[in-house]
Formats: sequence, structure tokens, C-alpha cells
Amino acid sequence: MIDFDTAQAHLAARATSPQSQETIRLEALNGRVLATDIEARLDLPPADNSAMDGYAVRTAEVTAAGTTLPIQQRCFAGQTPKPLRQNQAIRLFTGSVMPQGADAVLMQEDCQETDNQVTLGRVPKAGQYVRVRGEDMARGQTVLQKGTVLGAPQIAVLAAQGFAEAPVFPRLSVGILTTGDELMMPGQPLRPAAIYDSNAPMLASLCLGLGTAKPVVRHARDEADAIEQALTELASQCNLVLSVGGASVGEKDLVKPAIEALGGTLDLWRVRMKPGKPVALAELHGRPLVCLPGNPVSSFVVFALLVSPLIRGLQGRQTLFPPVRRGVLTDDHVKGGDREEFLRVRADLSAAVTRLTPYHQQSSGAISSLSWADALARIPAGFQTRPGAEIAWYALADWLG
Ligand code: AMP
Ligand code: MG
Repeated sequence: MIDFDTAQAHLAARATSPQSQETIRLEALNGRVLATDIEARLDLPPADNSAMDGYAVRTAEVTAAGTTLPIQQRCFAGQTPKPLRQNQAIRLFTGSVMPQGADAVLMQEDCQETDNQVTLGRVPKAGQYVRVRGEDMARGQTVLQKGTVLGAPQIAVLAAQGFAEAPVFPRLSVGILTTGDELMMPGQPLRPAAIYDSNAPMLASLCLGLGTAKPVVRHARDEADAIEQALTELASQCNLVLSVGGASVGEKDLVKPAIEALGGTLDLWRVRMKPGKPVALAELHGRPLVCLPGNPVSSFVVFALLVSPLIRGLQGRQTLFPPVRRGVLTDDHVKGGDREEFLRVRADLSAAVTRLTPYHQQSSGAISSLSWADALARIPAGFQTRPGAEIAWYALADWLG
């Protein structure tokens, strides 16, 4: 048996960054992983400009409130003003370029304009309401780092710098193999003794949520040939293969022998965690293959906490491990067992200390717990509740993104 943290670290250590990159248009960058550092090619703002609608002045000339100056010019955003003449003011608007010679802006609320003259109600401080060239981003500065997942804020930075496209890593291709004679595809009438395959759609959705390409999904009956054939196909097409079920020690657990028959190498671990004990990291045709437990709840938890860091690494991301948070259980009856346990909980962050409420049904067969929960609470082996005992928890929004 190995413990949870060791299994998580082993899987993440198998991640190698993608070897290739592609150039993608700004509109299609959402969720993609940046393949190089991005340096600012412009100072931003590109010139000193006004942060307010108001009047540009020379502070040395406005030493008393009530000073009146003639208005030399009105300069709208997008226009280039003339240099400020002595003892005059220039009417500006938010974003207007500062005239040469001016060193402050008085906001219009503090001024009175009549007959092309302005009376300044305050004494300005040098630099007030002026946005200085390069104060946001300076040319040559690294503004985005390689391995960053691009969302709206990063896309705004690229656009502001004038980039119409950016280099990103290719989307990770993932293959998913489900096994089991009892499984049927949703949409067909259920045969006696059969169940629907919930893992394949769930895992495909989990992969898409992390920003992979649309996964290639295959199902194999519990027969050595079928499993070998499907694994060969997936390992030749995909950069990561996930197999579900059939990797325990029952008579119909044929995934492990299939990997070995195909010349793959395999580390089968009994991870000291509940749900999720049997997990294997294999290598087939040079590609990583992770064998997940068949129970949908187990495979969900193992995917979220053990497989997602590996996927982030294979995507070329900089951050493999989302934050682990701390909170307190609302239920006093929770006791730790002989393995660490990951309870499906709801996290209430509205108070200073996060409160975690477990779903009433924690069996590894309870798929309903997944759609109810927004977090997983980590209960150490042998845990004894006492009021206020803090435990670690994992927000699904963090770990599945
Ligand atoms: P196994 O490891 O193949 O023995 O599977 C463990 C349990 O998970 C069994 O009850 C299987 O029926 C169930 N299971 C395996 N694969 C799936 C799947 N794709 N969808 C739903 N349940 C599954
Ligand atoms: Mg099975």
C-alpha cells in the first residue's frame, strides 16, 4: 500500500511538457496553455494620459484655489494635444494624452468653466490624475509566463499589447477505455443485470473541463483480445490513456495482463485512500496509461486528486497542484478508518472558518453524492472529531479546472 500523497506525487512526476506548439488567434485562446513567456512590446499606457475628465495644468502656475486660466484647447481621447502654453489650461477627457508641459489634471467636478476660461477650485498636486507612460506594463517586461492557462484577464493583456495571436501547446489528446460486460451505453433499454456506462461520459467531461481535446472513447468487453486491441488503438492515437475498471484482482480483471501482454510496464498500487484503492500507472508504447477504479465515485475522486495534476503537467501548465484548503466538519459523527477518506461535502465559505457538510450517503457507489458535492474533505486515518478540528479539503472548482 502507498499513501495518497506519494501516489499523487508519482503520477505528477510522470508529466512531461508537450514537445510542439501552435499559433492560435486571440478569439480562440480561451483555456489554452501558453507555450512561451510573453514580453511587453509596448509601454502601457503608451503615453502619459489623463485619468479623469478635467483640465491639464502646470502646478507651479496654480498656487491658490480660485485661479482662473484661459482654455488653450479641448483635447479628446485619441487626439494629440499641443504643448501647454504658459498660464493656460487644456481641457482633457479620460484617456486624453497629457500635453507636454502639463504635470497635473484637475477633475471637472472641482472646476468651473465659463467663456472659455476655467476657474480651478483646488490647488493641484504634481502628478495627480495622470497615468504615467509604462506604469501598467513596461516594454520588455515579462507580462505572461509560459505554462499559464489563458482566460479573460490574460487575453486582455495580449490584446492590450497588440498581439492578434499567441503560441500555445496543442490540446492534450486523451483516450478513455471502459471495460465490463455489464455495461451498456445510455440511450438503449437496460438489459437485466446490466448498468449504464457512467464513467466514460463523466471522464470525458472531466477531461474537457481541464481543457483537453475531445477524448477518444472505447469500450471493451471483459475479454483479453478486445482489451488489448482497444488499448493498442488508444495508445497509438493519444498522449494519455485512462482505463476504467478491470484492474483489480478478480477473475475478469484483464487490464493488467493486457498491458503486460502488449509489452507495457505497470506499477499497480493499492493507494491507502477511500474511495479509490486500486490505481495503476502504466506505460504503453511510451505513453502514460492510468488505470482507474471502476466505481464511478472512486474514478471521479481519483481523477480529481491524482490524475488532474498529471494532466496539467502533460498540458504544459505551470501549476499542477491547486490549493488545498482548511475547514471544519459540521458533522460530529465522522470517524477516520484505516485508510484516508475523501468525503463528498458541500463547503460553506460564508463564515471565517469554512464549514464542510458531508453528503448523507458516502458509499463509493453513490453517484448522487457527486452531483450534490462541491468539495472533497480529507479525513485522516484514525481521525477523531473534536469541536473545531480542522481538516484539509479540496474545492472541485479548483481541482477540476
Ligand atoms: P471493476 O473494477 O471492473 O470490477 O468495476 C468495479 C465496479 O465499478 C463494478 O461494480 C462495475 O460494474 C462498476 N463499473 C466499472 N466500470 C464502470 C463504468 N464505466 N460505468 C459505471 N460503472 C462501472
Ligand atoms: Mg469490470
